[in-house]
Amino acid sequence: MHFHILTLFPEMVMSGLETSITGRAIKNGLLSIEAVNIRDYAFNKHNSVDDYPYGGGAGMLMQAEPVYLAYRSVEEQIAGRRAGGEEKKPRVVYLSPQGRTFSQEMAQELALEEDLVLLCGHYEGIDERVLEEIVTDYVSIGDYVLTGGELPAMVMVDAISRLVPGVLHNDVSAEFESFQDNLLEYPQYSRPEVWHDKQVPPVLLSGHHANIEKWRREQSVIRTAKRRPDLLEKAQLTEEEKRLAREVTGEEDA
Ligand code: SAM
Repeated sequence: MHFHILTLFPEMVMSGLETSITGRAIKNGLLSIEAVNIRDYAFNKHNSVDDYPYGGGAGMLMQAEPVYLAYRSVEEQIAGRRAGGEEKKPRVVYLSPQGRTFSQEMAQELALEEDLVLLCGHYEGIDERVLEEIVTDYVSIGDYVLTGGELPAMVMVDAISRLVPGVLHNDVSAEFESFQDNLLEYPQYSRPEVWHDKQVPPVLLSGHHANIEKWRREQSVIRTAKRRPDLLEKAQLTEEEKRLAREVTGEEDA
């Protein structure tokens, strides 16, 4: 999978993503991540890419042309790589607090793309006209306002990358995780068996696979009911599991 990040701060993005699991995946050729510096496409002698907003108001706005030229360079590069192949425009995500909230489901959907362009705004944002021309998806990482789209882009690349086959050493570890089936993951334990007088739940030491699976599923239901009861509305639960969830949330007492 190829990520193309349009940004004013390429070093910030690359230094974060070239480490750890994403860094290893890049080295192994499973991912490529390029940060395109929008400032390289500035069209005035001061190299500036921002200007005052029409109509007044606080702050500066990123201008349309440098963003457009940076995007076009990526589009041409993709078309060159796919030469002779399909002429498919890549998905272009504008990171924005006004977008749809990023989720595991969205990460799964985007992990199927061959190329993904992530556009990072700064200052007060970007001239609307270029967004209308190139953006296919508006994505927010939460209901708060950050200074730039770089951290949100890194969040997205991280979450999407670990779903690309081969990126995690053990693909099973992405198989059951929080948010799968709208349940949170069960608690996990490693050695030693006793730590600070706390014993690992005996069922996990039993070697009885079916009992372990049953315990984990119950723990997922209990944990979700305690921490994220909102998720349970969309989870597929048996009657027994619904009863367990009600017990935890105290609904049965009501
Ligand atoms: N004036 C804009 C508004 O009210 O919608 C906010 C601009 S914000 C200060 C600058 C940039 O940070 C945005 O263009 C966007 O790329 C990024 N950004 C800020 N908060 C974000 C969030 N919650 N999710 C994704 N991107 C965000």
